[in-house]
Amino acid sequence: MTSMTVSHLSKTFKLNRKERLRAVDDVSFELRSGETTALVGESGSGKSTIARMLARLVTPTSGEILLETSNYRKDVQMVFQDPFASLNPAHTIGYHLRRPLEIHKTPGTAEELLERVNLPAAFAGRYPHELSGGQRQRVAIARALAPRPKVLLADEPVSMLDVSIRLEILNLIDRLKSEEDLAVLYVTHDLATARHFARDIMVMYRGQIVERGPADDVILTPGHPYTRLLAEAAPDPWAAHEGERPPRQERRNGPPLAGGCLFRNRCPYATDACAGDIPVYGEKHLVRCVLRASDRTAMERDGTPS
Ligand code: SF4
Repeated sequence: MTSMTVSHLSKTFKLNRKERLRAVDDVSFELRSGETTALVGESGSGKSTIARMLARLVTPTSGEILLETSNYRKDVQMVFQDPFASLNPAHTIGYHLRRPLEIHKTPGTAEELLERVNLPAAFAGRYPHELSGGQRQRVAIARALAPRPKVLLADEPVSMLDVSIRLEILNLIDRLKSEEDLAVLYVTHDLATARHFARDIMVMYRGQIVERGPADDVILTPGHPYTRLLAEAAPDPWAAHEGERPPRQERRNGPPLAGGCLFRNRCPYATDACAGDIPVYGEKHLVRCVLRASDRTAMERDGTPS
């Protein structure tokens, strides 16, 4: 069942008096109950801006976000990247968990929430600094679950944690997704975990979704040259600085391009056609590119790419 429908969502940031940054450009997708959808891209691609618009932390410039239910504040919850910053050091874990229960008038206790994320009930009396990073992120997940949401937005939920516990946290979100029939948006720069945990993957580049489809299809037979590059790329060195997006986007990608394919400065297959309107082809597996995979194969065979 569809939980959330996003239609033609865009966000433009004002950088200074003259410059604007189109961080998200005409993005549409659905999130379905009991399924994880991954939103993948480099830092600066606009994926966190989408999550923040869905969480109503950022106001869209245009477009629509439709929820099946009417209580948006209760039904859409977010888990943030930084488990250290997302909990107030002055309050106990129990306080952090009881607050959303009270605000949303949801039955339950802090201790029950802790048990749902595999933490001892006794943690309710502890303070955030007494917990490890992984334990804090479990608390953050428990807090997000407190209002019994329909949609969970997980914005790089493990990128600041030790590698050894990342899988545990992702497995926890995966289990809760099934148990609570949650529609999960998993925002990440990590294609491997996206493939493992998500049913569908959307690949973002400079504010646009350039490829979207079933996870295995996108990873095993990527249609867009950027997805291929991403699949081959080393881990993103900017991942820990996700918040500083606009200036970095220009540094990484070169100056803004007006129209056409925004990847053409980096694409080995770019031709003059890439400066015009870019079609989207495919049905379940959608790709925004002037070339089909077979065209690229022919170009590689004939030695056309630069
Ligand atoms: Fe490359 Fe052109 Fe396709 Fe963009 S539209 S990805 S530049 S071939």
